[in-house]
Amino acid sequence: MTDHPSIEIADDKVVTFHYRLRDAEGTFSESSEGNAPVVYLHGHGNIVPGLEKQLAGRSGGDKVTATVAPEEAYGAHDANGIQRVPIKRLGSPGRLVAGQMVAINTDAGVRHARVVKVGHFNVDLDLNHPLAGKTLIFDIEVVGVREATPEELEHGHAHGPEGHAHDHETP
Ligand code: ZN
Repeated sequence: MTDHPSIEIADDKVVTFHYRLRDAEGTFSESSEGNAPVVYLHGHGNIVPGLEKQLAGRSGGDKVTATVAPEEAYGAHDANGIQRVPIKRLGSPGRLVAGQMVAINTDAGVRHARVVKVGHFNVDLDLNHPLAGKTLIFDIEVVGVREATPEELEHGHAHGPEGHAHDHETP
């Protein structure tokens, strides 16, 4: 912030922000309060598209309330995403209750799913993203904006507030 106080959010900038997120129905909320702020590389699809779009042109210190439709967040809720599977396919999940999250092996690897209904032998699982179909409201406070490093641009994601090295598998 001291070096570039007026740098604007645009493609290939690294943005740091705090957020509060809720859905329009008020059934879900989370925030970065008490945690490290989010750091992302703008223009590379690292945050939901609707939020990325509404942060463009903002700069450090800005407060933004962004309302994002499902199509520009986690997508519409897909009724085909609800599947009835044998409980034994879940391994030994213990006592299942509606609303809990479980892990299930699918052709596409391990997925997390929400339990919709529990029967004697089968369970209905919702494989949609928990925020699918929801209009999301983000209260954003932009903490800082800086240029990306060449390494970050190559990786397509941010490497932390100061651009330090990190441990991950290089794709
Ligand atoms: Zn990386």
